[in-house]
Amino acid sequence: MAYPLRVNAAELLRRPGSEKTIDLQATVAEIGLHDERFRESDTVEVHLRLESLTDGIVVNGEVVAPWHGICRRCATAATGTLRSEVHELYQETVTDPEAFPLEGEQLDLEPMVREVLILDAPSSPLCRDDCAGLCPDCGIDRNTGSCSCNNTVVDPRWGALDQLKGILDD
Ligand SMILES: [Zn+2]
Ligand SMILES: [Zn+2]
Repeated sequence: MAYPLRVNAAELLRRPGSEKTIDLQATVAEIGLHDERFRESDTVEVHLRLESLTDGIVVNGEVVAPWHGICRRCATAATGTLRSEVHELYQETVTDPEAFPLEGEQLDLEPMVREVLILDAPSSPLCRDDCAGLCPDCGIDRNTGSCSCNNTVVDPRWGALDQLKGILDD
């Protein structure tokens, strides 16, 4: 299928108030997502409930995809599964500035899914929540080794930066 995230919404639009549940899959490459945090061959899952209005479709559900990155503390590979909640509106004539356009009777979920994944993927991830990081003096990975450097007092400025990054990732 050339466009795995396109849904024919003709029937929904004919009967306002009707609902439909859809479960779709596409690879990162198929949805045209180019972002270093996602791998082209990985699968993106889309689980949505569609509900038709008189002039559009409300879309609620979840987009799930694996992400990849580099741990901000220890610089090793960090991976995880992103689960993004979706609450979106598609309109035949777009009057809501947040809404996505319907392409005729086609619901094209691709731009929405791309946007959600790019927005929600962690920008400065951790390999695990309690990653001990690298020793600032000798560079040893404190998750796998220990050293005798005397630097247990962490510079508070870096602590604050770390916290801020954590908040921005949420
Ligand atoms: Zn780490
Ligand atoms: Zn050390």
